[in-house]
Amino acid sequence: MLSDQELFRYSRQLLLENLDISGQEQLKKSRVLIAGLGGLGSIVAMYLAGAGVGCLVIVDGDEVDITNLHRQVLYKEADVGLDKSKAAQKNLLELNSEVDILTFDRALDSENILSVLKEVDIVVDSTDNYTARYNLNRACLSLGIPMVSASAQRFEGQITIINPALGGPCYRCLYTDDSQHEALSCSEGGILSPILGVLGSLQAFEVVRFLCNFEKALVDSILFIDLLTLDFRQVKYSAKKDCPDCSRLRG
Ligand SMILES: [Zn+2]
Repeated sequence: MLSDQELFRYSRQLLLENLDISGQEQLKKSRVLIAGLGGLGSIVAMYLAGAGVGCLVIVDGDEVDITNLHRQVLYKEADVGLDKSKAAQKNLLELNSEVDILTFDRALDSENILSVLKEVDIVVDSTDNYTARYNLNRACLSLGIPMVSASAQRFEGQITIINPALGGPCYRCLYTDDSQHEALSCSEGGILSPILGVLGSLQAFEVVRFLCNFEKALVDSILFIDLLTLDFRQVKYSAKKDCPDCSRLRG
């Protein structure tokens, strides 16, 4: 049940027929894990906290650096040197004190990932490397949790959703060889922050779409975005028969 205060606070999004009070109640009882609190995770975390998702599990093992601030808009100058997860928790609670913010101040690895993902409804992959994404992909497949994955560099980025319940392709079906697809990091290739705003916003939207059961989702396809040319291109892809991560789940 929503309190009068909550009905008023979220009244502008409650006006949407797709969301309504039942959708808001669904957001309130949901738990979303955000892996990586950089440029993408900053945006996702702020929008989901603002929207009233009941519990956010936020994960990052790094500290805030001055070179992060141009794009990781969740942090302020006073946060430089602090653990990202703790600084993010403080700033998100200032935005919405009603949301539970659980922190995990280490990177996810094969040892800890299954316990951290326990009871999570959906995972946001806002990490910055393929090892982390493969770990998330495998864990989400084994637990049956959907994952909204995005990445960006320079002026470009991409987003897709892996949903094991639908039996579609997984992240490893898209990227089968990490050595060929290792992206440049922001410190190597550079990045203009609005591309992170676009993709982080899309990730937040897809989370709300999944939790509130809107119609169509970005499953079985990947959306490529190039802000320089304003090219938005959605490309279908399918599961690989010999995928090392998901083929055995399909039998
Ligand atoms: Zn696969």
